[in-house]
Amino acid sequence: MIKPTLSNLKKVSPAIALTAVVAMPVASAHEDLTKPEIKVEKKKDGLYMYIDGVKVHETDTTKQPLPKVVTPGAAVGAPPSDAVVLFDGSEKSFKENWSDTKGGASKWKTVDGAMESVRGAGYIQSKAKFGSCQLHIEWASPAQVKGNGQGRGNSGVFLMGNYEIQVLDSFKNQTYADGQAGALYGRSKPLVNASRGPGEWQTYDVIFHRPLFDKEGKVTRRATFTVLHNGVLIQDHTILSGGTGWRGPHAASDYKAHADKLPISMQDHGNPVRFRNVWVRELKD
Ligand code: MG
Repeated sequence: MIKPTLSNLKKVSPAIALTAVVAMPVASAHEDLTKPEIKVEKKKDGLYMYIDGVKVHETDTTKQPLPKVVTPGAAVGAPPSDAVVLFDGSEKSFKENWSDTKGGASKWKTVDGAMESVRGAGYIQSKAKFGSCQLHIEWASPAQVKGNGQGRGNSGVFLMGNYEIQVLDSFKNQTYADGQAGALYGRSKPLVNASRGPGEWQTYDVIFHRPLFDKEGKVTRRATFTVLHNGVLIQDHTILSGGTGWRGPHAASDYKAHADKLPISMQDHGNPVRFRNVWVRELKD
């Protein structure tokens, strides 16, 4: 049988080449299996391509279901109709959806429609658990500037309680690149510094795909992050090379196998950072 490599395809006639492609998916066993499988058929009226078994431009909705209709929020950043709203600014929403890391009532407080970190209260975490997801969260570092570097407006948004998108007042406040606002802490600096000033509300929009592990606990697919900071792309499908935990001045934690779904959490780093308008949409892995 003719192997459908590019060089072989050039040597044979188009008809034979197409037969060869139909006989075998384009993706070989050595290729990334997360890529779609593409097959091509030649018919009287032209080429018929199939991506993962679904015909391109398929009009039969039983074979290619239409995307469901989601009503977007009235303003950009407002929760769409299918979002899980984790904080809407109310005390009720805070108490219903958030706890300390042991599942008890958090000592964080609600101020002016925001959840505010309280020194010594520890991390706050969502009662609901999530894996791969889209997350919208807004935050503000203290209007009154205190400290510098990592000591100024430090908090963090953790996906699955493990993978930190740094929250820091990075407006005219220099620190190491992979520790500034929008960094995947210790692993990946943001593409640009899109920070607003102290006390101003800022947004993170995050597309997160969780890591996968095998039965032995070895990572088989690493986590990916796409992050927009105030609408500006700062992590572009970044593949996370491991954990983001502190492991000394120049080291980050490794991947460690964990459950498929875990809480979203925010850090108490001793600074009164505020959060509001938190919502999540679950995604397929
Ligand atoms: Mg932090």
